[in-house]
Amino acid sequence: EYFDLSRLVHKIYDEFTPLCQKKSLEFLLDAKDNIVFYGNEFRIKQLITILLDNAIKFTGEGGKIILKLKVHANSIQLSVSDTGEGIAKEHIDKIFDRFYRVDKSRSRNHGGSGLGLAIAKCIVNEHKGTIDVFSEVSRGTEFTVSLPYKASQC
Ligand code: ATP
Repeated sequence: EYFDLSRLVHKIYDEFTPLCQKKSLEFLLDAKDNIVFYGNEFRIKQLITILLDNAIKFTGEGGKIILKLKVHANSIQLSVSDTGEGIAKEHIDKIFDRFYRVDKSRSRNHGGSGLGLAIAKCIVNEHKGTIDVFSEVSRGTEFTVSLPYKASQC
């Protein structure tokens, strides 16, 4: 069904702001307004939440997280970037697998079962989109989701 994706993104931003403050993370929002999107609002919320949860988990105090929503001709782009620990090249291909975690010994600190990104990928597939990751160890990570979109004609 159709829903206001811009409003959802703002709502999620407001929900995560106190969590970032608690960890002294700078949290920025850069979102285009009035994007009416056809999809499952609950699942899109789950997707953004997974990416933000990870960004907070893997970014140390004083870091920065940016949530973006952009529109292109035939797609919308959602991205979450952080200045956290990053992901080494040899792990990048596996992070979307179920139960995969880069550093298993840290699971106790971080909680986490390694399911988040597998679910995120599944949600992206349900919406016929793509998800990409750009990362540099000890510099940060950016997840970019691209979803097919047609601007409303009226
Ligand atoms: P959960 O099931 O609670 O989400 P998780 O965060 O360990 O647990 P995933 O979300 O699937 O599981 O992430 C898999 C792994 O990818 C993580 O354990 C972590 O090693 C790596 N990862 C994911 N996001 C980031 C990020 N923003 N920065 C650095 N590493 C990340």
